[in-house]
Amino acid sequence: MLLPSHWHTTNLLLISTNLNILAVPFQLHKHLVKSFRSQSILFTTTLVLTILSCKEGGKWKGQAPIEVVETYTLPIQKQQIGTFDLGNGIFATNDFPGARLNGVVQSNDTLITALITSENTPINPSPWYAFKIWSETSQQMHLKITYQVGANHRYYPKLSYDGLNWAALDSSRYTKGEVLDIENNSRELPTSITMKLDLKPDTLWISAQELITSQHVKSWIDELAQLPYVSTTSIGESREKRSIHSLKIGNSDDKKMIMVISRQHPPEVTGYLAMKPFIEVISGDSELAEKFRSEFNTYVVPLANPDGVDNGHWRHSVGGIDLNRDWANFNQPETTAISEFLNERVAANNGKFYFGVDFHSTWEDIYYTSNPELKGNAPGLVPKVIEQSTRDIPGYEPNIRPGKIDGPRINSSSYFFHQFGAESLTFENGDDTPRELLKTKGKASAEKLMELLLEVDPSLL
Ligand SMILES: [Zn+2]
Repeated sequence: MLLPSHWHTTNLLLISTNLNILAVPFQLHKHLVKSFRSQSILFTTTLVLTILSCKEGGKWKGQAPIEVVETYTLPIQKQQIGTFDLGNGIFATNDFPGARLNGVVQSNDTLITALITSENTPINPSPWYAFKIWSETSQQMHLKITYQVGANHRYYPKLSYDGLNWAALDSSRYTKGEVLDIENNSRELPTSITMKLDLKPDTLWISAQELITSQHVKSWIDELAQLPYVSTTSIGESREKRSIHSLKIGNSDDKKMIMVISRQHPPEVTGYLAMKPFIEVISGDSELAEKFRSEFNTYVVPLANPDGVDNGHWRHSVGGIDLNRDWANFNQPETTAISEFLNERVAANNGKFYFGVDFHSTWEDIYYTSNPELKGNAPGLVPKVIEQSTRDIPGYEPNIRPGKIDGPRINSSSYFFHQFGAESLTFENGDDTPRELLKTKGKASAEKLMELLLEVDPSLL
């Protein structure tokens, strides 16, 4: 594999591109969403195929049960950052936040091979990749993405020429590599994929999902915080000293509160894309939202793992840990900062959290809820929110998986429930769920949640 070359003129171009990302205005994010309308057919097709391929007599049963693991800090392997000179006037780079490209080489006149590896092992199968590539002269090339032994390809490639507007690769330009271990590989994931690309001097961005880094999230937060009833603070720092930002939405007295977090797991962009409209509805100008904000304050941590996101990690924090297994021992600064912040909110005004949601992504949409026999501060709230928010979506049947009564208490939603009595939800969104559907679900769940919380028997509140 080639090592990054030294600075040359193309780096200047990259620096200016990065500066543009820093200054990205809010309106451009709307374009990002719009651009997905044209892609929704492809995403729908992919979704249907995915669902068909893994149904075993009914709905998907979800991930294997959560296992208790140690959360002491572990070493990770950092990428070597730089620009790779592949010869023939072709260059690739991982020199931007959110990138992951561990090596790349020109294998022959028509084939480039990229290697993607994880931050450490063992690790969940969510191999994130993101890099830029360009050629001084226009030429068609095949680009093969390969992974470390034992890892399979998961995310269908998204392409962009500006890092903001993304479109799925045309399926006629996509080839799956070998599928191994059929018995344990029910989704028939290949060990590699190959894309046919038209390389040109314009920089092409290739990414596992839309690239949404800490800078994009900060732009969104700052835009929202211009509203008179929204404020933002930094509640702590990640291991690499990135700020963990929170939003407060509402002008109530903190007696009644809800909490929202997302992106503990870096590649889980579709979770973020459902969280965003959820929050925008709560901070919107409807009568319902206004009434809600006068009674309930909403606390949001939109990016719980900024180091993992900006380092292009597959799953873990820079402490080498799955943060969503650290909500009992709090060995990591990110989970510690969030839990201390939530506990302070309760202590400050003797308030209560009535609802807590953590947005994630997985193979398909699925809702992990608390066991219905366990009663929190608003019993029955979460199943009602799910049912009422999805019943108007044609053909959509929510997949709801209640937890076990005595399940391990090591993830965020069990912490929200057992520590605060907050009715809690792990809101999982499919990797390939059409982006418009993510928006619909995010918006509708916020609307139903507000309606139901305002209706809850006042004696319970
Ligand atoms: Zn997750």
